[in-house]
Amino acid sequence: MKRESSIFVAGHRGMVGSALVRALHAGGFENLILRDRSELDLTRQADVERFFATARPEYVLLAAAKVGGILANDSLPVQFIYDNLAIQTNVIDAAHRNGTRKLLFLGSSCVYPRLAPQPITEASLLTGPLEPTNEWYALAKIAGIKMCEAYRRQYGFNAISVMPTNLYGPEDNFDLTSSHVLPALLRKFHEAVERGSPTVEVWGSGAPRREFLHVDDLAAACLFLMERLDEAGWINVGAGTELTIAELARTLARVTGFRGEIRFDTSKPDGTPRKLLDSSRMRALGWAPSISLEDGVRSTYDWYRSRRRAGA
Ligand code: GDP
Repeated sequence: MKRESSIFVAGHRGMVGSALVRALHAGGFENLILRDRSELDLTRQADVERFFATARPEYVLLAAAKVGGILANDSLPVQFIYDNLAIQTNVIDAAHRNGTRKLLFLGSSCVYPRLAPQPITEASLLTGPLEPTNEWYALAKIAGIKMCEAYRRQYGFNAISVMPTNLYGPEDNFDLTSSHVLPALLRKFHEAVERGSPTVEVWGSGAPRREFLHVDDLAAACLFLMERLDEAGWINVGAGTELTIAELARTLARVTGFRGEIRFDTSKPDGTPRKLLDSSRMRALGWAPSISLEDGVRSTYDWYRSRRRAGA
């Protein structure tokens, strides 16, 4: 990508899209094409076709998706499969038809089988059953990876797919019913401290293990791959370390200053027992994350507090 290249960041209001915009601006890319949902509904094929025919972006970063935590996935299966299939199908096809030079599709680590050998390599895809709490989302994302492969094979379209691990950072969703674990617990601990509540509830047993990557590290990885990767397949992007949900809860309690009791609500689902990506392909290309969990959590907590102070 050149400094003057036109780059469409789909989903620029979301956590990943906004991190991509920050990284692009920092890298001197100024010709960004951004559309709010009110201006362009990516689930509407005709609207997406019209937009691409006019804007003709040279590069596309496809970060628009319906995302959510374990309960949201389980309770809104239609939105998770339909919206994601529609968005990615419309954008990938329109990009190919309108001269886009390269497209980056964002997948997810939940595309891999529930009981994939750990750490999970790219070769695990489609080797076993999915985790049922997020299979709707996972199936859509698997279709997206395969769409990119199909367009590359049949038309030579330069589409690459990135599988990030669990992400967190500014612009994350802090809604307690639909968010992922890290923002949910940051908020629960913060509010417990504010209200002087003696206990905080953590869903599940606390035993599942997860890997967390700051979204600014992911954005840097995506821009790196836009320069460095032009081949079929999909590539994992993770932090390389994991911790249990109980350990995560203790870390977040420390950062927020919560000194009360952490209770595990085992009536809520645990989800997949372990989800650590093998990111050695990424490391071999020369990329490594730079934000530690402790630093990333502290800066995300600062962002969250300033957001609350601003009344958002
Ligand atoms: P997952 O990685 O796809 O399973 O998505 P989540 O981030 O939603 O959940 C990760 C793990 O954290 C699961 O074992 C959840 O049960 C657990 N967890 C503990 N407390 C919470 C919470 O308040 N919200 C969410 N979303 N998950 C929680």
